[in-house]
Amino acid sequence: MAQRATSRKSPLVFAVARLDGMKQCRVLICSFFLASITVWAAPPAQPVPKRPKLVLGIVIDQFRYDYLTRFRKDYTGGFVRLLENGAVFTNAHQAHVPTVTAVGHSTFLTGATPALSGIVANDWYDRETGKTVTSVSDDTTELLGAPGKGSSPRRLLVSTLGDELKISGKGGKVIGISIKDRSAILPSGHMADGAYWFDAGTGDFVSSTYYFAQLPEWAAEFNKSRRADAYSGVSWKSIIPPAIVFRTMGTAQNAKFYGSLESSPYGNELIEQFAERAIAAEGLGRHDGIDLLTVSFSANDYVGHALGPDSPEVRDMSVRTDRLLGKLFAYLDARLGPGNVLMVLTADHGVAPIPEVNEKRKMPGGRINARSIVKAAEDALDQKYGAGHWILSTSEAGMYLNHQLIAEKKLQLEDVQETAARAIRRIPHIFRVYTAEQLFQGEVQADTVGTRTERGYNAGRSGDLIVIQDPYWLIGGNSGTSHSTPFDYDSHVPLVFCGAGVKPGRYYATAAVNDVAPTLATMLDVEIPSGSVGRVLSEILGH
Ligand SMILES: [Zn+2]
Repeated sequence: MAQRATSRKSPLVFAVARLDGMKQCRVLICSFFLASITVWAAPPAQPVPKRPKLVLGIVIDQFRYDYLTRFRKDYTGGFVRLLENGAVFTNAHQAHVPTVTAVGHSTFLTGATPALSGIVANDWYDRETGKTVTSVSDDTTELLGAPGKGSSPRRLLVSTLGDELKISGKGGKVIGISIKDRSAILPSGHMADGAYWFDAGTGDFVSSTYYFAQLPEWAAEFNKSRRADAYSGVSWKSIIPPAIVFRTMGTAQNAKFYGSLESSPYGNELIEQFAERAIAAEGLGRHDGIDLLTVSFSANDYVGHALGPDSPEVRDMSVRTDRLLGKLFAYLDARLGPGNVLMVLTADHGVAPIPEVNEKRKMPGGRINARSIVKAAEDALDQKYGAGHWILSTSEAGMYLNHQLIAEKKLQLEDVQETAARAIRRIPHIFRVYTAEQLFQGEVQADTVGTRTERGYNAGRSGDLIVIQDPYWLIGGNSGTSHSTPFDYDSHVPLVFCGAGVKPGRYYATAAVNDVAPTLATMLDVEIPSGSVGRVLSEILGH
């Protein structure tokens, strides 16, 4: 260390040494002092990790952590590469409520909680306009590639990794791709060069005027090739023998057919094809700056909702995702050479077992009628304060009370909230009901459920009442399953980093998806996104 320091005299040491003889003594002291500074400032012995040319952020929509372990023997592609060469977190969670698509995707590369990001659900009631909005709906934009209003990241209140790459001057291009608009837009961020998603009306990939005035030539060309139509009449068979036919796709090339692709392996295949096209056409990984591509595979979510985590179709979708990731990684290897891509993979949420499947195996669970919750609140409020239109809306972001009516009747908002909450708490299999007042004041239990609910609450956007059901219970729906709770089956997701600068191995400590953004920002030496509450996963750095 000392030897290295003296042989690396700084220019300042030479400048001081040029002074005349009368000052020799002082020069010596100065030189000695500067030499010690040089020792202190010497770079660490380990080599500086190679900067990636491309960061590939992958989200699988609805992918429980246990899909990695339960189906491990069936994997031969991308998952094997990640599991064998990556830093694998075995206990990573989406650490907020509700565990839904928009929230998981906004957390991924911002590190922010919904409380900070403002993305509190897929849809919520906007008190200003009196309308339900989606996390990305934006009437000031137009859809490009199909008729309709566009979408944008304007409701996201914080920066993403891509934004920070751009602001730092170290970023190249930032692109987001998915079937769902929110899943393409929220991970890529405000300053993205483009976000693209699938339009079930036309079978094309579309974007919005937020990004550009017209679709880039390559995207329009891709659409002209009518890749979606190639799945007309195709039978979806199990990839693992025996080759059972799960479903045969329709032949009419209409909205019903294109919509059905979203809930089949072919939706994911289209995403992967479009991603390859984007990589080539946009020259991703070949710019001076670091490029960022986010790809979210949505088809797993549609299949999972309909058929549940124990179905052979979900297993098949997982195995096909493994093969598809393998294809994408091989494509990147061939174009950019191995070692130039830094990959991180996670999921936006898990999913609950289908209640009827759980019942058969003597496990708890069931379905709560959603209407019964609204009715309990309405009845209690009518009875106590007189008949009125008390509830304006309900969504994953909570139940929204009529503030105008409450003000007209000169009632205290927190009293009305508590009256409704007490009525809902009496319904069987309702675990907890938090009022906005409780969440705003931080008056929640310091357990996982309390803290995750508090992190999900944004005063300007969330509802007045947040309802949490017992584990394994679903609110609403007569078939299939869902997610959104703070419980492990919804929160526990894969988290794998793989590539330059990552120490491979299995990491057992608890991690949050919020940790991804600060970790990547640290690796790329850019500012940590503005709303990040995550931890730098320093244990994986420095390979
Ligand atoms: Zn879902």
